[in-house]
Amino acid sequence: MTWRCSAATIAIFLMGVVVVRSLTGAAGQTRNVAVQRDANSFVRDCPTAADIAAIKRDLRLSFESDPTRGTQVCSAAAGSADLTLMQARAYRSLVAMRDLSFDAPLPWTKDSVYRWLVKAIGGIRFRANIETSFCCDPPNTINVRDTVLGRLPTAAATENFGQLEGFMGLVVHEARHRDGGPHTCGNRDTSIKQLGSWAVQYHFHLWIANHTAPDFMPTVMRDDIRRQAVRLCQEQFCEDRCRDSVEETEYRVMSVAATHVIRELGSVRMVAVSDRTVAFPCESAAETGLVVGDCNGMRTARQSPEQALTAIRKSMPAVGEDMTASFLIGASKSFSMESRLDLPVPQTVWGPGSDRGLPQGALPPDLAIYPSRVGYNQGHDAALVYLGVRDLSGKSKSFGEYIFLTKTNIQWTVKGRARVWEALPATQR
Ligand SMILES: [Zn+2]
Repeated sequence: MTWRCSAATIAIFLMGVVVVRSLTGAAGQTRNVAVQRDANSFVRDCPTAADIAAIKRDLRLSFESDPTRGTQVCSAAAGSADLTLMQARAYRSLVAMRDLSFDAPLPWTKDSVYRWLVKAIGGIRFRANIETSFCCDPPNTINVRDTVLGRLPTAAATENFGQLEGFMGLVVHEARHRDGGPHTCGNRDTSIKQLGSWAVQYHFHLWIANHTAPDFMPTVMRDDIRRQAVRLCQEQFCEDRCRDSVEETEYRVMSVAATHVIRELGSVRMVAVSDRTVAFPCESAAETGLVVGDCNGMRTARQSPEQALTAIRKSMPAVGEDMTASFLIGASKSFSMESRLDLPVPQTVWGPGSDRGLPQGALPPDLAIYPSRVGYNQGHDAALVYLGVRDLSGKSKSFGEYIFLTKTNIQWTVKGRARVWEALPATQR
């Protein structure tokens, strides 16, 4: 028997916007990210002799061409090694890479990025006589054009972490050819899902931007790196999955919001999670199967999306215009959900899109959850998500809420909820 609820239309009581609870000042946040050196320290400090020796044990670096020859920026006498500017940049990048720690596992390896790198390749050659950087010659050695790290500094271009980070991204890309194969669509890859060279480079930049300790680098630098990641997404995939799928980081926000709701309801044993996000167009209700009144619960048919969000900003003043602008983009259409949420109870992913019924003999879900995509503020440390919550047990109410969250260290916390509709349990209608 296929179980679905697309045909059901919930009888609803639209109540405008009701602030459910104002959850401010979540005190007692624990810091659980190891203290990390900040990005600028890798640019400012010379690598120590011990750091250099450790890198040399892992990777054979050959500086066959060095446009910065004659410069010396680090010295053995001062506890480092005699290094030209290009050599210093190379060691600084690799030391930084070795020290990187992320608050989420990388999508293509269970190892740290540096452990993965030194398993994938044995060395890096810096060369002048090549058109572009490539992998590999000899077989376990990537070749990097000397201009990548060999530009002499000018008054306008000072040393910065962005340059080192760009090099790290290139190294990750080339090394991935060694264990992930060649490009699958000309010089581009077919899709992000393949986790080829462009995808791991994209994820690497995204992880630096979104998954490092908050004080690792300034917001401007973070935003720059995030933009680079998005550019790769837009340009390097033939199927262009980036613009068409929910970003990995959004699942964390959805999960925290859904967990909050599940914990509050108390007796939930199993949930069904929609395989598509809910969106503002009323016709998109058919894609998720959640029909609420004359629309889909995010707004009424008579409200524009902007009007709905203005009401939300009125009831939760901490929700900024940057956040609602970002929310509007994500909610402009329904997207497919490709990852599971991180929830305290078992879940099944289902919906008209997947045509998947519940597994035979499974615990029937008490609750169906329909998330929207996530809108962020510019700093990416505050977020807005909408959840449609449908009671399937006949015991509780169904409802829809806009949920506001903030991020402290690596932890998202619900800080405000605005309920926009609710419906009595089916048995009491
Ligand atoms: Zn490539």
